[in-house]
Amino acid sequence: MKFFSSRLIAWQRTHGRHGLPWQGADAYRVWLSEIMLQQTQVATVIPYFQRFVISFPNIDALAAATEEQVLAHWSGLGYYARGRNLHKAAQIIAEKYHGEFPREFAQILELPGIGRSTAAAICALAYHQHRAILDGNVKRVLARYCGVEGWTGEKRVEEKLWQQAEALLPLHDVAIYTQALMDMGATVCVRSKPKCVLCPAQADCIALQTERTAELPTPRPRKTVPERYATFLLLMHGNDILLEKRPGSGIWGGLWCPPQFDDEEASRDWFVRNRMDASEGERLETFTHTFTHFKLHITPLKIQLARKPLHAAQPGSVWLDVEEALQAAIPMPVRTVLQELTRRMG
Ligand code: SF4
Repeated sequence: MKFFSSRLIAWQRTHGRHGLPWQGADAYRVWLSEIMLQQTQVATVIPYFQRFVISFPNIDALAAATEEQVLAHWSGLGYYARGRNLHKAAQIIAEKYHGEFPREFAQILELPGIGRSTAAAICALAYHQHRAILDGNVKRVLARYCGVEGWTGEKRVEEKLWQQAEALLPLHDVAIYTQALMDMGATVCVRSKPKCVLCPAQADCIALQTERTAELPTPRPRKTVPERYATFLLLMHGNDILLEKRPGSGIWGGLWCPPQFDDEEASRDWFVRNRMDASEGERLETFTHTFTHFKLHITPLKIQLARKPLHAAQPGSVWLDVEEALQAAIPMPVRTVLQELTRRMG
């Protein structure tokens, strides 16, 4: 890791991005660019940045504008909270610092919409202060270069990356070094297929040496899908089955389903409430239906009735021959159950 920063600085001078409208500008413009560049590409940001600084050439002008005017200039950039925070921060700066962008890291960090890395970027780029940055691109570069495993959104991993970022920081040319890291992340050490042959850090990059450039940074862990359970009560009278229309909202909204319960016990309470004989039912095999956000394990409980209960003639419930029910608006798991019933009737 020796000379990492000097290699990056030399690379930035010849291969980095130059002539961006906020480079070498005052803290206001650096701040504005940093906020606009969050979640947005440089090419998209440039025309927005230019229009913005024409309309609001300084912090006082921005603070004096209405929120509507600011958001109209932001329109199309997305993530409008950024525009609103920018406006709020300008008003704070106008009032508290007489329109002069503060120079202290802690003062900058207090402003709305500015996190640790953005505050550090403003300090490094506008004031040449000795501050390390760690935005999304830099996390990727450092996770690869230093071989840091683990999802970078995890506190423990992020802390490790901050330590690396601080350790690699040069004593001089911090602004160029900061720009180099940003440029490297945007143009060379890109998300997929990094261009390692063009990289100033290739000689001692751990991911490259250990052939893990595709594995690092470790992707966000897949969320485990919650598991839920349901009992379908298959009330049968001859070949007829009772179906109920589901409420319009929620899963299977407006479709026809057998009465559904969280478990068998709850289905038996239903029997008691409806003054029906909770005779022994036949438990069919449990099967699983997968939704995008959860898995539903369904156990159908089949109960053959000697006569149709009166309550079931209510609106919203219907007795249908199983074959007929298969033609109705039913969700896939109900179809599976009905098909199993016709197979058994066979
Ligand atoms: S050598 Fe490749 S993986 Fe390593 S920092 Fe450079 S571009 Fe990224």
